[in-house]
Amino acid sequence: MAVTTRLADRFRTLGTKVKFWFFAVGAILLVVSGLIFQSVTQLISSSRWVEHTYQVIDTIDLTAARFVDAQSAERGYVATCSKVLLLPYRTDIPRIYSDIATLRALTADNPDQQKRLDRLHDAMSAELARMNLAVADAAGGKTKAADQLVADKTDRINAKRIFALTKEMGDEERRLLKQRVGSVNFFATSALIACVCALLASLVILTLVFWRIRRETKEREAAKTKLYETNERLQCSLADLQLRDNAGRSIALLGELLQTCRNTGEALSIAARHLQQLIPNIRGTIGLFSNSRDMIEASQAIGDGAGFAIEFAPDECWGLRRGRLHHSGGNEPLCAHLPEKGDPTFCLPMIAQGETIGAMSVSGPYSFTEIEQQTIQTIAEQLSLALANLRLQETLRHQSLRDPLTGLFNRRYLEDALVREVARMRRRNEPLSVVMIDIDHFKRFNDTHGHQGGDALLAEFGLLLSRHARDEDIPVRYGGEEFALIMPGASLEIAAERAERLRDAVKRLHVRLSGKALGLVTLSAGVAAYPIHGGSGLAVIGEADAALYRAKQNGRDRVECAGSSTSAQSEASDRQSA
Ligand code: GH3
Ligand code: MG
Ligand code: MG
Repeated sequence: MAVTTRLADRFRTLGTKVKFWFFAVGAILLVVSGLIFQSVTQLISSSRWVEHTYQVIDTIDLTAARFVDAQSAERGYVATCSKVLLLPYRTDIPRIYSDIATLRALTADNPDQQKRLDRLHDAMSAELARMNLAVADAAGGKTKAADQLVADKTDRINAKRIFALTKEMGDEERRLLKQRVGSVNFFATSALIACVCALLASLVILTLVFWRIRRETKEREAAKTKLYETNERLQCSLADLQLRDNAGRSIALLGELLQTCRNTGEALSIAARHLQQLIPNIRGTIGLFSNSRDMIEASQAIGDGAGFAIEFAPDECWGLRRGRLHHSGGNEPLCAHLPEKGDPTFCLPMIAQGETIGAMSVSGPYSFTEIEQQTIQTIAEQLSLALANLRLQETLRHQSLRDPLTGLFNRRYLEDALVREVARMRRRNEPLSVVMIDIDHFKRFNDTHGHQGGDALLAEFGLLLSRHARDEDIPVRYGGEEFALIMPGASLEIAAERAERLRDAVKRLHVRLSGKALGLVTLSAGVAAYPIHGGSGLAVIGEADAALYRAKQNGRDRVECAGSSTSAQSEASDRQSA
């Protein structure tokens, strides 16, 4: 905005300056034109005066010449009485008067010349009068008188006066001519100088204006370029902001989704999908530590994941070794788990709550931008946190559902699972058997080998029970040294047979504590089945418990099956009262 305003101001200033300089040129040209006009006017005027002077000089010279002609004709006529000579004489006389009148008019502006002209007129009149008289005498036959007049010195005196006056007038006019020619030269030179000065001044000013406009144009272009650059930068920043906004929204959504993920697999696939959406053509893997924590296993592909190792040792990854983002392919060393001639790759260790969970390795067909790098890092951090949370949840769930000593399910889990499994078997119209197990004389075992010995036996028995359970069976530590095995889909007979096998196996169970072999134990078990011994899980457990009680009553180390529903109920009530 500020740049635009500065540009507009600059244009306004340029416009004002150009106007000023054009006005200056105009003013100079006007003044110089005035001077030229004046000089030319004076030149014309002076030229006219020069012409006028020439005319005056010519007229003086002509008057003098006519006078000489007239006097010659007069003398010739007096001497020869040839009438031929009278013609030029009679022609010249009026012309001489006419010339003097012309000279009077021409020198009207010059009083001195007028005075000289008066004197010339007087001298001329006197001489012409004398000449007229001599001609008249000669014509009238008075030859002697006429000769007398010609021989008289008067004509010479008059002629001398006339020539002296015409010379004086001529000299004066020549002096004036010289002066006027000087004026003509002066004004011509002035006009020329004024023209040259005007031309030079205009050229200098126009050059200055041109140079100024050029400079301003260049500055304007530079300012425009700057403006375009600023605009471009703004547009880039806007695109950057939009990208960040998109990434921010997508990452917020990812965070929300990761929080609601139920397991690691879901979290990994959601994170990979978001990465692909935000950074097209990205590919790589998300690797997690194996259970033994000695390998990183590629648990999720990003894009096609082609070219990335399926598993590698943590030491092979510089990102994991450095504990921060590592850029393979730049100046930094190439991770050993990456192909040698692959694209530049980023390896990010995935760390949450101080624990390293795994590593994310990603590459693209071009170098990632700063925003993309940030996005990858943020997603890796969010995923690490989500995975750590899921693990924590898993542990908590495990802890709440499992017995810590044996690793078997606990009683609380049994109660929930039993309801679910009975419903499932009811839908499938299949039986469900329950084996209740109690270790015989466990108190005695405890007393003999100590509580730790008892715990060791319980832990070993837990493993034995797990080994005897199929995948869909639910082995449970029911409490103390009592266990249960829920067998969905198994009939009473099959369950009893499995219980027998277990009873047999426990006899061969060699428990050791601190290298010392502990004694052998036996177990008693009671077996009951849905639906024959009860319509609910709890009822069946009650029946199995009653059968167990019977097994104990009958001498232990045996498996008893529940009888019919009614007999079982009465036995259970006997047990309660006992
Ligand atoms: P019976 O053959 O009739 O089942 O006799 P018993 O001794 O096995 O049964 P009783 O109910 O009299 O004794 C069970 C003993 O188990 C009592 C208790 O001290 C012991 N016990 C219960 N829970 C644990 C445990 O977690 N660890 C150890 N070491 N002993 C336990
Ligand atoms: Mg017991
Ligand atoms: Mg017991």
